[in-house]
Amino acid sequence: MSSSTTSRPFRVAIIGSGPAGVYAADILTKSQEVAGGDVDVSIDIFEAYPAPYGLIRYGVAPDHPRIKGIVNALHKVLDRGDIRFFGNVTYGRDLSLADLQAHYDAVIFATGAIKDAELNIPGIELDGSYGGADFVSWYDGHPDVSREWPLTAKEIAVIGNGNVALDVARVLSKHAEDLLVTEIPDNVYAGLKESPVTDVHIFGRRGPAQVKFTPLELRELSHSRDVDIVLYEEDFDFDEASDTAIKTNNQIKTMVNTLTNWLVEQEDDDSRPAASRRLHLHFLHSPVEITGEDGKVTGIKFERNELDGTGNARGTGEFIDYPVQAVYRSVGYFGSELPEVGFDAKRGVIPNDAGRVVDQDGTPVPGLYATGWIKRGPVGLIGHTKGDALETIGCLLEDRLGLPVAEHPGEADIVELLESRGVDYTTWEGWNKLDAHEKQLGASYVPQPGNDVVRERVKVVDREEMIGISNK
Ligand code: NAP
Repeated sequence: MSSSTTSRPFRVAIIGSGPAGVYAADILTKSQEVAGGDVDVSIDIFEAYPAPYGLIRYGVAPDHPRIKGIVNALHKVLDRGDIRFFGNVTYGRDLSLADLQAHYDAVIFATGAIKDAELNIPGIELDGSYGGADFVSWYDGHPDVSREWPLTAKEIAVIGNGNVALDVARVLSKHAEDLLVTEIPDNVYAGLKESPVTDVHIFGRRGPAQVKFTPLELRELSHSRDVDIVLYEEDFDFDEASDTAIKTNNQIKTMVNTLTNWLVEQEDDDSRPAASRRLHLHFLHSPVEITGEDGKVTGIKFERNELDGTGNARGTGEFIDYPVQAVYRSVGYFGSELPEVGFDAKRGVIPNDAGRVVDQDGTPVPGLYATGWIKRGPVGLIGHTKGDALETIGCLLEDRLGLPVAEHPGEADIVELLESRGVDYTTWEGWNKLDAHEKQLGASYVPQPGNDVVRERVKVVDREEMIGISNK
């Protein structure tokens, strides 16, 4: 192993092509500016799915075109031609850590968090109890989830007061026709169209001033056609900490105002025609048990909470049962453990110090880095990931000259390895073909009577089909 890379580019592998991975790649390619002009880098991004963009393609709700638009920025970075994309390559299966260390001077893990955080209450295993993140994967056409989703419930509970709970509840309560303008796959439209849902209840365990949503996402709930929002006066409890939050935090103030206005409008307006679907927002409810019969969800029991003065909730000893036939838990995402890298099973992250992966003793593992949700946990909006990437890349550049040097740093070496193993990887050119194909599917959609929508794209879901179109 030589000790210098000065005569060749500094080779970096990034695992994951979501915003975290692409932002890190972009910042690193611009590292000429960051590190004083002496770094020549060559970056390969490996992605487990045949298509790029991670969370944007498989986590953002289809009716959020503004956020989906971040794809344009990521596309620009990957389209410049100075970063290579290898899709359908799974770290730990197709490439081991030793493979990466032999071919790259540094490896950055940007694998995000895609699983649901657990909710340990009795009945969580019943048929009809789902993870919100799994539902998101289904409606976003994730290649590894079933094409079918059981949508037979009339009344549904969604647990959690974060933006994912809002996404899940909004998609569940919207009329399928109103999602046709989005890129939803055909199987998702067909599934939602059959849904008999009438009532979706969102339950937060704390009060209106402690919600984790953001104002835009909350307001958007009222834009769904033929869906009424229902609020409950007894849930509008504000303690000292709530009053402080309303005074000092503009986002909280806006959201409390929105909720309070909706409550007042609802009380003032008995005359409006009732919608065929309702979205109920409940606060101060802690889930206690999902109840069932014959293994299937039939209801959910909550303990009513009160605020304790600090913005936290405590139980009152009063219990309430709601008849529902499905329960979705949206109590946060959780990262997945990666082979051969440490894992903090409590936080669902790779143990790291400012992005430097550390071992059990807290000592940095030379050449290994983490960024995005697998670095700091599943919190914050997509833009926050940029700051994360800056910090991680800063560490990498600082360490650069002292890192172990790859034995096979040639750009052709990794391609040879993948090909020798028969890995059916996709490329950036392949993605452009799949992208064009999906847009073409959208353009060739034949409008149905009474619904002459324009579809910009229809997602291809099947992994083999995605690979086939990409590698044609
Ligand atoms: P989140 O924002 O952390 O919200 C999790 C929610 O679950 C909180 O309301 C939390 O309540 C509740 N919860 C946790 N444990 C619970 C329990 N045992 N019982 C009842 N409730 C429980 O997580 P998220 O919604 O998964 O979102 C993750 C990140 O992605 C966030 O930063 C979010 O803003 C972002 N995101 C953004 C968008 C968007 O911009 N449109 C869309 C989706 C996601 P407590 O507060 O009481 O703990």
